Amino acid sequence: MIALKSLLTTNSKFKGVDILLTSQWPKGVWQYGNNLEGIDTKSCGSISVSHLAFALKPRYHFAALEGANYERLPYRNHVILQENAQHVSRFIALANLSNSSKKKYLYAFNIMPLCAMDPTELVKQPLDVTESPYMKMMKEFQKTNTEETATVSGENQFFFDLSKKAGKKRSSEGGRPSPHQSKQPRTIPQPTGPCWFCLASPEVEKHLVISIGTHCYIALAKGSLTPDHVLILPIGHHQSVVELPSEVIEEVQKYKLALKKFYKSIGKRFVMFERNYRSQHLQLQVVPVPIQSCTTEDIKEAFIVQAEEQRMELLEIPEHSDLKQIIQPGSAYFYVELDSGEKLLHRIKKHFPLQFGREVLASEAVLNMPDKANWRECKYSREDEEEFAKVFRNGFQPYDFSLLD
Ligand SMILES: [Zn+2]
Repeated sequence: MIALKSLLTTNSKFKGVDILLTSQWPKGVWQYGNNLEGIDTKSCGSISVSHLAFALKPRYHFAALEGANYERLPYRNHVILQENAQHVSRFIALANLSNSSKKKYLYAFNIMPLCAMDPTELVKQPLDVTESPYMKMMKEFQKTNTEETATVSGENQFFFDLSKKAGKKRSSEGGRPSPHQSKQPRTIPQPTGPCWFCLASPEVEKHLVISIGTHCYIALAKGSLTPDHVLILPIGHHQSVVELPSEVIEEVQKYKLALKKFYKSIGKRFVMFERNYRSQHLQLQVVPVPIQSCTTEDIKEAFIVQAEEQRMELLEIPEHSDLKQIIQPGSAYFYVELDSGEKLLHRIKKHFPLQFGREVLASEAVLNMPDKANWRECKYSREDEEEFAKVFRNGFQPYDFSLLD
């Protein structure tokens, strides 16, 4: 297997293989993927097969042995923003032939060999593409590689162990610890029930998705105030901005900047708000307001006035301060961020009007569309939503960093 791997991957023209068949599952293939049920992920899979799949980049990887059917969301074979786009891989596990529980054991498909495909067609990224399940694992492996894999709890470990050579090489590099060495591999938190916003969850309405980055994505808001009202969402399950890991925050910032530029180009001002109250998955609501109709001060004023009316205290937070230092993780809050970077924060005590942010923006003082204050009243047909998303995607494209590879 090592010979096969090095033979293929030392060839610079090597792009990948069309089909890979293995008996065992690759270890960790479920990471960043759709939910996997009925499999014990601790004992399932072989890390050697993960290495193989990572190196060979199969367009289709079929595996058996576990008696389960699992069709993982397609995953990327490149690092976004750093490497040229490559084709995606699909992992498909099939159950045993004619199994009594009628799980899928047959998979029919058409495939054009990659050597015959148009390169741009080949690297097209489907909307539901995820991070590679192996990339991080391989990096960790290289960093911490010791004799470990030789003993990787060996059940079904039929393959020769890859680790020794690399292990020796690492240790000869001297004792300089890498700054990331002590970091535990981070797994994306999983929701306890179905979630409408976890990108890998079947509940997500894919036609609303506008752009997908490495840690975050943008989707059109359901029942949007305006056709260009969107949400910035973490791909994994995180509850609020103050609980986001730093790499996710960084990408949120990138999306904010890109949206600001895009809105500016169409004569609109960026306004964003978050309500961390009765919500499981962070949604940063971004609503553009025409520059002509309101100044930043007008919008700020509208929030302050309407908060006073409801006897809610809004604290002004200066532009560069970090919410994480002001709010304890786990406590409920609402904040709005204006295009100047200023924020207005309300610490939620017991009750909070769920639609507050939306109500202020829909009010006469801002967008003047009071009939749209309640999102449940704003029902659009699927065709409308598809159209809104299409128009947005086209306009946003020049600003969308996720497409720049
Ligand atoms: Zn979620």
